Order: sequence, then C-alpha cells, then structure tokens
Amino acid sequence: MTRFVYLFREGDATMRDLLGGKGTGLAEMTRAGAPVPPGFTITTEACNHYSDTGEFPTSLWDEVLAALRDVEQDTGKRFGDPANPLLVSVRSGARFSMPGMMDTVLNLGMNEEIAASLGRLTGDPRFAADARRRFVQLYGKVVLGIDGARFEAVMDEAKGHGAREDTDLTETELSAITGRFLEIVRAESGHEFPDDPFEQLRGAIAAVFRSWNGRRAVDYRRLNRISDSLGTAVNVQSMVFGNMGDSSATGVAFSRDPSTGENVLYGEYLVNAQGEDVVAGIRTPRPIAELEQEMPDVYRQFRAIAAGLEHHYADVQDMEFTVERGRLFMLQTRTAKRSAAAAVKIAVDMVHEGLIDRETAVQRVEPSALDQLLHPTLDPIAVASAPLLAQGLPASPGAASGRVVFDPDEAVALAAEGEDVILVRQETAPEDFHGMVAARAVLTARGGMTSHAAVVARGMGKPCVAGAGSLRIDAAAGRFTASGVTVAHGDVITVDGSTGEVFAGRLETRAPVLGEDFHTLMEWADEVRRTGVRANADTPADAEMARRFGAEGIGLCRTEHMFFEGDRIDAMREMILADSVDERRAALAKVEPLQREDFVGIFRVMDGYPVTIRTLDPPLHEFLPRTPEEQLELARRLGVPAERVRARIERLRESNPMLGFRGCRLGILYPEITEMQARAIFGAARQCLDEGVAVHPEVMIPLVNTVEEFVRQAEIVRRVAAEHGVSDYLVGTMIELPRAALVADRLGAVAEFFSFGTNDLTQTTMGISRDDAARFIPFYVEHKILPEDPFQVLDQEGVGELVKIGIERGRSARPGLKVGVCGEHGGDPASVAFFVGAGLDYVSCSPFRVPVARLAAAQAALSASGEASKGLAA
Ligand code: ADP
Ligand code: MG
Ligand code: MG
Repeated sequence: MTRFVYLFREGDATMRDLLGGKGTGLAEMTRAGAPVPPGFTITTEACNHYSDTGEFPTSLWDEVLAALRDVEQDTGKRFGDPANPLLVSVRSGARFSMPGMMDTVLNLGMNEEIAASLGRLTGDPRFAADARRRFVQLYGKVVLGIDGARFEAVMDEAKGHGAREDTDLTETELSAITGRFLEIVRAESGHEFPDDPFEQLRGAIAAVFRSWNGRRAVDYRRLNRISDSLGTAVNVQSMVFGNMGDSSATGVAFSRDPSTGENVLYGEYLVNAQGEDVVAGIRTPRPIAELEQEMPDVYRQFRAIAAGLEHHYADVQDMEFTVERGRLFMLQTRTAKRSAAAAVKIAVDMVHEGLIDRETAVQRVEPSALDQLLHPTLDPIAVASAPLLAQGLPASPGAASGRVVFDPDEAVALAAEGEDVILVRQETAPEDFHGMVAARAVLTARGGMTSHAAVVARGMGKPCVAGAGSLRIDAAAGRFTASGVTVAHGDVITVDGSTGEVFAGRLETRAPVLGEDFHTLMEWADEVRRTGVRANADTPADAEMARRFGAEGIGLCRTEHMFFEGDRIDAMREMILADSVDERRAALAKVEPLQREDFVGIFRVMDGYPVTIRTLDPPLHEFLPRTPEEQLELARRLGVPAERVRARIERLRESNPMLGFRGCRLGILYPEITEMQARAIFGAARQCLDEGVAVHPEVMIPLVNTVEEFVRQAEIVRRVAAEHGVSDYLVGTMIELPRAALVADRLGAVAEFFSFGTNDLTQTTMGISRDDAARFIPFYVEHKILPEDPFQVLDQEGVGELVKIGIERGRSARPGLKVGVCGEHGGDPASVAFFVGAGLDYVSCSPFRVPVARLAAAQAALSASGEASKGLAA
C-alpha cells in the first residue's frame, strides 16, 4: 500500500520528489543531529490525489494520527490536551523551493481553553494570547480564505496606526483582538471558528494542498518553468516559540552573503517574534552579527550548524531558526538563492576551498543569470549630482529607471504597453508577485534584506531597494513623499539595488565591469565547452565588445545596418531610386568605400577570427522615407522630381515584405549590389592582408531557396575574390526557409558552410510573423498552446527538427560541413543546449549574450558527457 506520511527521522535527501524541498531539508537536518522540532511530512502524492479527487487518500488520516502520536511521544506533549498541549505548524514545501508562495499556519491546535492553560503552564499568559491571536488570524486567512486585510485593519487600529508595535500589545488587548477576529470569521464565513484541534489540522492540510493551485503558486511556477504536476508536500511540525520574551527570537540567515558571495554569515533576526515577522517587515530586524553579542552561545552553535550544513550540501544554505528561551532550533535549510555576482564568487571560492570541483562550479551558475552582471549600473558621475530621494537597503543588485506605480495590476497593464515601471509598495506580499514580474525594479518602504520583496527580486534578477524607511507612501492619493519631495504616480525615478539609493528622474547608466572571478569561471567553462561561440556584430565597436565578452568570431555581420549611418542612407536611397543599371552602379560606388572601411575596422578587431558577412537582406522600402514631407525633402536633396520619388516608393510597396523582394532575391535581380558588397569585403581583406592582419571572411547568402539562387550569387563572390587575390575565404548559405533545410543535401554540395537563421526559419516554419506575434503569443503561452515564445526559445519539435534535417543532409553531401546558427536563439540557454546536442559547430548571438552562450554551451557539454558516462555504466 502507498505510504503517504514519513516522520522527519525517516526521510532523506533522495526523497525530494516525495517529501519536497522543505521536508527533505528537515529530514537531513534531523539525521545530522541538528536541533529540529519533531514532526512529519505528508507526501506530494497525497497532494496530487487531493488535486485530482478533492479528497484525502483513504489511509491518509490514520497515518497522520499515527505520526502525531510519535511526535507526542518525542515532545512529551499531547495534541488537543489542555493539560499539556502540543501545538503544530502546518507548512507547505514543494520539490523546488517557492519562497513565500504558499501559506503556513502556525500555533495550530488551540482554542480558548488550551490558550488559557498554555498561559498558566508557561507562566506567560501574554505569550499564549499572542499565539492564539496569530493562529486565528493565519487560519482565518489561509484556511478559511478570509481577506487578510480585515484582520490587519483590527491590528492596525489596536496599535494606534503605527504608534506602537506588536510587542507593545498587552494580554488583555490581544485577547480582545482575537475576539474581534472570531467575529470577523463568523460574519465572513457564516460558521463558528473550529475549536476542535483535529478539525483544524484536517482543514490546514487541505488548505496547503489547495494552495498548490492558487494564483501566486501558479504564477511562480510559470515564471520559473516548474511543472504543475509535481504537487506540494505538507510538513506538520511541533511548534517552538520565538515569541516567549526577550530570551526568544526568530531569524533567517545565509551561510554566505547571497548578494556579494562573501564568506560571512549573513542574515537577520527579531527578538520576541514569531514566524513570518522577520520576512513580512512588520518590525525592522537586526543584523545577525548582533546576535553574537546578545546571545553568544546561541550564535556560536548556529554558526557551527550553518558551516556543517554548507559542508554537507557543498553549497550555500539559507536557513530559518528560532530561539525559545535561549534554546536554538533549526526550522529550515535550503540551497540559497543568490545574485549572479554571488553565484560566480561562491562557485570560484568553493573550488579554491576544495568543496567542489571546476565542473561543478561551471554548473552552479545559471547562464541566464549572467545577464545581471552584464547589466548597466548607474553612472557615478550622474549619481554625484542626482537628487537623492531616499536610502534603503541594497536588496537586489542592478539599476533601473521607470514610472512610479503603486498597484501591481497597474504595473502589469503599463508594462504591457511598453512602459518601464517601478513598483513602489509599503512592503510586498506574495499576491503582488505578478506586479513584480512586470516591473523593472521594486522599491519598498519596509522590510529587510530577507523580506519578501528582496528574496523574490533577487530570484528574478531584478533590482530592488527594500526598507527605504523615509518613504511616506499614500497609495490611495497616488503619491509618496521622501526628503521633502513629493513624487506622484507616473513620475520617473531611478533605483539602484546595489547601493540602496533612490533618485528622482532618470539617471545615466554605464556598462558593467567584470571581475576576476567572472573571468576564472568563464575560463573553466571554455575548458569543457566543445561548441564555438561567436557574436552578431555589425560595426567595429560591436566587434570590440564581442571580443571583450569572449566571442571567437562574428557569426553574423548585417551589412544593411552600415547603410543607415550618417548620410550613407542618401546614397543607398539614390541606388534604390535609380532607373538603370548604370545609375545604380554610380550610387553604389558611393557606398562601397564606406562599407569597405567598416570591414577593415571589423577585420582588424577580429584579428584572424572568422567574420561571417551577410549580403543585403531586407526589403528595399525599409530604406525609404515614409512621410510625404520626408519624401519631398529627399527629392529635393537628390535633385529629382518629387513625383518620381513617390511613384518609385509606390512600386516598391509589398503586401508581405517579409516574404517579398528581399534576401538573395535582391542580388539576383540586381547583381551589381552583390558585386559591390563583395568588392567592399575583399577590398578590405586585401588591405588587411597587406597590413599583415589575418582575415577569414565567410560570405553568407541570405534567404536561399534553390541551388540555382545560391550558385548565381556565389559565382559573383568568387569572381570578385579572385580579382582581389584573396583565396582564404568561404561562401555559404543561410538556412532560413524550410525548403532550404529540406534540400540541404543539394545546397551542401555547393555551399561551403551553413548558418541557420532561426528567426526567419521560425517565422517561415510556423507561419508566424515575429512583428505581429505579440498579439497572440502571450495568450498561447499562458494557456499552454505553446510551451514558450518560439522567438525566444527554439521550437525544438518543429523548427529544431528542420535544423537537424538540414545538418544531416548538408553533411551527407559535404562531410564535416561547418554549421552555425545566428539569431536570438543563439543566446538562449535552452536553445543552446539543443544546438550543442544537434552537433552545430558554433552559435552566434548579440555581444551581451556571449558569456551566457559560453556558459550554456559548457553546461550542455557537461550534461552530455554525464549522460554518456551514465550510458556506459548501465
Ligand atoms: P515559507 O516556505 O514561506 O518560508 P515556512 O513553512 O518556512 O514558510 O514557515 C513560515 C514561518 O513560520 C517561518 O519563519 C518559520 O520559521 C516559521 N515556522 C514554521 N514552522 C514552525 C515551527 N514548528 N515552530 C516555529 N516556527 C515555525
Ligand atoms: Mg520558510
Ligand atoms: Mg533572415
């Protein structure tokens, strides 16, 4: 018979699927002899059964009662017995940690009689009243589904609207508050609050099961690509109390600084507090270092446990603890979420400390998180003269500017319109999650470094300033004041999550500096990587940036971008408007020297690395002026009648430019364009070779459908190369039409390399125009009609299949054919993993994504060799 309940001492790390992250953490700590309050875990299978049927599995309740008896024996207390009551917490805990995503009920097992006797037994009636107050509040909100604001309003009123803190409330006041809570429950639910501890326990377990399908859990899973079918485990654990006076406390700490990676205990605690108080930002917590003075023995013990756990897991731990009357208890441990900078430093440090090897270090850093490191920071010169509005805690690094919004729904709406928004809140709660996703940055007035806002923002790699205490937020009136300045809803502010500073207006940013640890980790990645990484770069400046980020060549140089600069566009327009071949040649002759100069610059920077240059690709109308005024102006500059310009533009208009007169079709009808471009390329190559600079041009023909198209264009390129005496070069084709992939064996016979243009290949395979996709793709993704946006993450099933076919057929004609990919997918980690598996020689992406691609390719190589050795062992 399936077993649904495991005591903490029966579980271990191999049971993560069944017991969830929190459950296995509690089990491992129990096994290691750490002081964990006894308890048990209900499996994810029980949750899935409940999600499917709406009922507990038949045997579940008996198993719960049996496990409860075991906990009673361990603690010497009895659940529901006023003479010596056992109270428990009921905690969710899925396979992957979902911080703050699901609710926990504390102090469960109380009623009026039990509270009174608990007061007598502990000699602390105020504590008992507080515990019951918290229980009724949490149970009312989490289990009975009553709006938490109803309870908070009562609390707020009792505290004189901020005049006093929770800890100032007397026993009598707390009991009165509980009385009002019970009335709220009666009015809102139409039932009495359940007084029977067993009924409470059943209700709480079911509520945790249900929370798996609650909105914030679903949102979080979607963002983090966690499967909906895993289910959550439920942990039932005997309570320990951090709210029993000044020798009690509760806290959260990391074994290293999750923001910088520095190897120091890092965290916060609150004296005389319970559970969520630290995270919820109700009072401002104190740094963990102060615990060393305040409770030296507890601090030493905690530090030893933290070090032991870090060693055991060989990774940084994020731990929850409670001190009950001077006694330390561990309540949770999990792998710590960390900023990208911290991830890099920790991985490198741990190799040096002998905790992990280099390959593990390479796998420890999420490639997409590197984005954070590569993001711009605030320009210090701009900062020096900027009006500082407020100073908060540097909760999540990075800087961003945007319009102030107070409401998460509005953040979503404005972001959808393309606005940059900063979500400003008193403090955030899990129900604000969607707003945080939409915002560029988050700013809160309350809460510490481990507040909800801080933890969630760090996880998302989003800048966050927390606990900016001088902010006076009046969300209803749509404004906040700080430093005597009033900032209205919609005004632009800038937040710097690396320093905690908040500024009025928009500030200049500047490119990030990459430290030594970053380069060390990248070197280790390069040691295991088998797939090349190139960059898409159109200018010498881009090329330089690409080299700095470690690109091993250029995979896509789009020549058309060169035509937009300065007054080159005029020569280009003249070319397009030309009526005869001779006129066209004359116009092209003006562009040629400029383009050659660009290539010289790029070749010099790339210094012998291959440079793939694509011949002219976009539809010609993209170069022409749109408005009548601009058309008139152009006609005047070119000295031609306005009517001629207008007529020519009219003739170039297409119904579907994406599928129209573009790509190699331009060079087929106007071979002089391809010829000019080839002259610019090989003229530049010749010049560089004469200067002693090695060059490896790879000329790439876009949008090829048929062998004949390619042959005609390649013939021009080869002739011009010979005229310049350049022999070390390749002519290849892009594969960006399904037909090209299907006839890749025939193309492979004539083309010297392939480059998959996966943007166009996605458009043409799926029949989706990328520019119009925003109308429906988000809906498709949300409703799982598509797993991802196919322009961000390669559609492996369809487009990926064409990539595989193209490689296989191409190499059947030309063994060892060099194959690459250019397009957004070259910088997406999941797509890179696919390309590595498909046997591509290199991926090419924008310069900023190059480190991401290097790391992703290394990880793909490692997991491929892991699979291979597993295969051998089997
Ligand atoms: P989350 O997953 O949101 O962190 P937890 O289940 O860890 O939720 O619990 C929320 C808070 O309640 C934490 O601060 C935790 O330390 C506290 N808590 C949970 N169980 C107990 C317990 N048995 N005794 C004391 N505090 C507890
Ligand atoms: Mg927790
Ligand atoms: Mg294309």
